[in-house]
Amino acid sequence: MRIILLGPPGAGKGTQAKSISNKFAIPHISTGDIFRKNISEKTPLGIEAKKHIDKGHLVPDQLTIDLIKDRLNNEDCKNGFLLDGYPRTVNQGEALKTLLDEKGHSLDTALLIEIPREFILNRMTGRRVCLTCGASYHIKFNPSKVDGKCDVCGSELVQRADDAEETVSERLDIYEAQTQPLIRYYDDKKLLSVVDGTKAIDSVFESVCGILGEIEE
Ligand code: ADP
Ligand code: AMP
Repeated sequence: MRIILLGPPGAGKGTQAKSISNKFAIPHISTGDIFRKNISEKTPLGIEAKKHIDKGHLVPDQLTIDLIKDRLNNEDCKNGFLLDGYPRTVNQGEALKTLLDEKGHSLDTALLIEIPREFILNRMTGRRVCLTCGASYHIKFNPSKVDGKCDVCGSELVQRADDAEETVSERLDIYEAQTQPLIRYYDDKKLLSVVDGTKAIDSVFESVCGILGEIEE
């Protein structure tokens, strides 16, 4: 199965992606997680990406496209993948299509987690993440079992620098301007499916499984 997750920052893409990846046995590829790992390891990619991420801006297309090209060539993507946070521009969507065409593959669906803007600030300011395994928690809606520690790997949970209130607003504006057009792009190609992201985490996952289960059959 080849799937991409769409939706504004804070919609719940990363949260759902972990469960989808487990249930459908496909690798979860989050460009945001890859950038954060590179930032914490101070690699050249991390140093460049940080300049953009800290301002709430997108990392330049070519850097991101090259990164995904490389990652999708990995052996574990042979039978499918779940992309979370890529593509984020129509240009990145076109690049993904070219890449898949070259391999004789196609996308099964672009799954949009829909959520109005007024829900988002609470979600993002309460988010805590694990930089080791990428797991995402919320201090109120999805707390870890032990305060400040990741349930999956035990690492320390941190607040993302770009989840500060001022940066969130910038990121939402950028989503409207640069990522929203992708929804039309996939709708025109009859690839778009939509779930209501305002429901509880388990209930969103149930809707997601309904859609992906049909694709799998
Ligand atoms: P995204 O990857 O789309 O930016 P996340 O999956 O990191 O979003 O979720 C953003 C925040 O909202 C996290 O703190 C997460 O625990 C919380 N969250 C995710 N889905 C829900 C939901 N359905 N209801 C309430 N909180 C949620
Ligand atoms: P995320 O974890 O998906 O919220 O991504 C965090 C940040 O990483 C974003 O705000 C962007 O600055 C950057 N980023 C992640 N994915 C992409 C992408 N596909 N294109 C450009 N920038 C990205």
